[in-house]
Amino acid sequence: GNQTFTIIKPVAVQKNYIGPILHMITEAGFRIKAMKFTYLTKIQAMEFYSVHAGKYFFEDLTSFMSSGPIVAAILEKENAVEDYRHLIGATDPSKAEEGTIRKLYAESMSHNAVHGSDSDENAIVESDFFFSKTERY
Ligand code: ATP
Repeated sequence: GNQTFTIIKPVAVQKNYIGPILHMITEAGFRIKAMKFTYLTKIQAMEFYSVHAGKYFFEDLTSFMSSGPIVAAILEKENAVEDYRHLIGATDPSKAEEGTIRKLYAESMSHNAVHGSDSDENAIVESDFFFSKTERY
């Protein structure tokens, strides 16, 4: 697939990292196809992360994701899902490679700066969760 979906999470927005993170994304060759500054209610966060329902971190994850504004975006590039996960780095920022978004801007496993889709199928599901047809180029 040539598209993926990302969220700049609440702490990264709060710390004014939107600009630096978007800069890294565009420098890496991704084109922004849709983008919005928005927020998730607790219920919406639970729906978005429903694959993690029942896991010990689900409550913290969904509370955190609904704790403040986020940036949601659809990104386009050849091999988008895999290349974007490479750019963001490991889920645990202490294991993230040098030069990755999470190495630079994440502080912990739950406050890990960004989300990136893990498959082409999920990229579509997640993009559709946030964007209508008229909101994307
Ligand atoms: P994302 O889906 O946000 O890109 P990911 O694919 O790297 O992250 P997932 O396993 O899908 O990781 O987990 C989703 C999110 O849940 C993670 O980004 C992280 O914030 C949180 N999370 C995952 N595992 C843990 C954990 N063990 N403790 C706390 N939070 C966790």
